[in-house]
Amino acid sequence: MGEENVHVPAMQLWSYGSGTVHLNDNDFEHLLFCVQCQSLLNEFINILEQLPSANPNQAA
Ligand SMILES: [Zn+2]
Repeated sequence: MGEENVHVPAMQLWSYGSGTVHLNDNDFEHLLFCVQCQSLLNEFINILEQLPSANPNQAA
């Protein structure tokens, strides 16, 4: 059924998580319904949040 669906590339998710890029409509729609991509994105966000100098404004 959804086997031929291509996951959002990890680099896209990483950049999206870091707020540097926007996903295109296809990728965003895929992300909405793909648990795998969502959990991967969550992992990236967790990592990004723990990076010390990721964002200059450290709103704790
Ligand atoms: Zn996916």
